[in-house]
Amino acid sequence: MTSFSLRQVRLRPGEEHREALEVELVPYEFGGQRYVPVPELVPAELVITRATTGTVFALAFDARLHGPCYRCLGDAVLDIPIHAREYQASSPDDEELTTPYVRDDVLDVSAWARDAVALALPDKILCRADCAGLCPECGRDLNDEPHVHEEHEADPRWAALESLREEP
Ligand SMILES: [Zn+2]
Ligand SMILES: [Zn+2]
Repeated sequence: MTSFSLRQVRLRPGEEHREALEVELVPYEFGGQRYVPVPELVPAELVITRATTGTVFALAFDARLHGPCYRCLGDAVLDIPIHAREYQASSPDDEELTTPYVRDDVLDVSAWARDAVALALPDKILCRADCAGLCPECGRDLNDEPHVHEEHEADPRWAALESLREEP
């Protein structure tokens, strides 16, 4: 787990502190599939800036996840550049002005990084933007074997099969 003790940094308003860290990333369960970070340990830059009324934290790193493509189930690699910011008021009078990642002067960089990647995940993880996916008729990969099937709506035998298929 990566954390950073804020006691080692004493900043006056307007000053900033830059820290090079390594962040350990975690696998994500997404749409019933598992996506693993490669590598698990990535270099990150933490910038702490003291403002008049509080402290701004900025965390930047590049995450890369490997897992199955949503459409074709082939290997997908997703690069996610992370630029996350948090703010902690010096004398917070409401919840809005505190970050959940600072507790007892320690910044929980791992938890922040985990959430930042989760927030940055796209709706669908694809092997490539125009992945054609699997054929809904026969299951073959339409990227490797582009094809269409004959229209069969008119054939009552197919209609019967189709209605069976729609049963959950
Ligand atoms: Zn795909
Ligand atoms: Zn097909």
